[in-house]
Amino acid sequence: MALGTASTRTDRARTVRDMLAAGRTVSSFEFWAPKTEKGERNLWNALRRVEAVAPDFVSVTYGAGGSTRSGTVRATERIVADTTLTPVAHLTAVNHSVAELRNIIGQYADAGIRNMLAVRGDPPGDPMAEWVAHPEGLTYAAELVHLIKESGDFCVGVAAFPEMHPRSTDWDTDVAHFVDKCRAGADYAITQMFFEPEAYLRLRDRVAAAHCETPVIPEVMPVTSVKMLERLPQLSNAVFPGELKDRILAAQGDPAAVRSIGIEFATEFCARLLAEGVPGLHFITLNNSTATLEIHENLGLHHTRQA
Ligand code: FAD
Repeated sequence: MALGTASTRTDRARTVRDMLAAGRTVSSFEFWAPKTEKGERNLWNALRRVEAVAPDFVSVTYGAGGSTRSGTVRATERIVADTTLTPVAHLTAVNHSVAELRNIIGQYADAGIRNMLAVRGDPPGDPMAEWVAHPEGLTYAAELVHLIKESGDFCVGVAAFPEMHPRSTDWDTDVAHFVDKCRAGADYAITQMFFEPEAYLRLRDRVAAAHCETPVIPEVMPVTSVKMLERLPQLSNAVFPGELKDRILAAQGDPAAVRSIGIEFATEFCARLLAEGVPGLHFITLNNSTATLEIHENLGLHHTRQA
């Protein structure tokens, strides 16, 4: 595994595409833009801790995890202005006209952001409610990839689903639609969370069988509390290993023990993925970076930022 050097990590204009093309295993952290002052302080504390280990990039979700859409644009702009981190700005198509999307892409460009993650987004409230496109908007993420690409020299990532997108009825069409996004110009993909490495490996095989070489970065969600375990079904359709669930529940009276179990599992999960040659690891932080940083360090991925 070739890991990046601190000196190359200080180049803010680099794209995720370039980082992946350089052949090293990238590491990245995902945040969301909070609505409250306390949330804002948590976010910035977490970002500062992450900054110290020089990840390849950090991403900020768009209107997800309780964040407002304008909050996402502001947080991403501030990351560019006030930190040494390379931000990837998420953008969703849901409830936006093409003119609004162009405007947000322009705001990101003005802030010096070159990396975006293009996702369709879900209907607000109930993610599985009927999808209704904005009358002057887009229907699929592939169209958003196309729009961003024609708007400037951006590096664009897309979403991938190791356990199939919940709206898809079969694997063949799901993978065909994923490949459409790549053919529309996506430079890489980041997966939905999953907990069994085989799910990722099966997706990777299916994508390769469709003659698509777009790198797919696995997303890592450390589960370090019972509360988090209980929230998982609202966040994704990922299968959670029964044995791990039993261990966490057996330790539920002891939050420190639950945390250790979660960190140990996530470390082994990541190590297995690295051994399988994944192009990177993308950690969900829920704006609290301590557990993810511990796993990152266990894996030997920490770097020291040069002045
Ligand atoms: P699409 O690729 O458009 O796919 C949606 C469904 O339509 C799939 O079933 C697909 O197979 C199908 N489909 C695609 N093309 C066609 C076609 N031509 N004809 C028929 N069917 C088609 N949500 C947020 O709100 N904000 C975020 O910041 C955010 N970030 C995310 C980051 C990652 C890494 C991931 C994995 C998800 C993220 N999401 C976010 C959630 C995402 O918006 C939802 O999972 C959404 O349901 C799917 O988005 P998509 O981009 O994969 O959609």
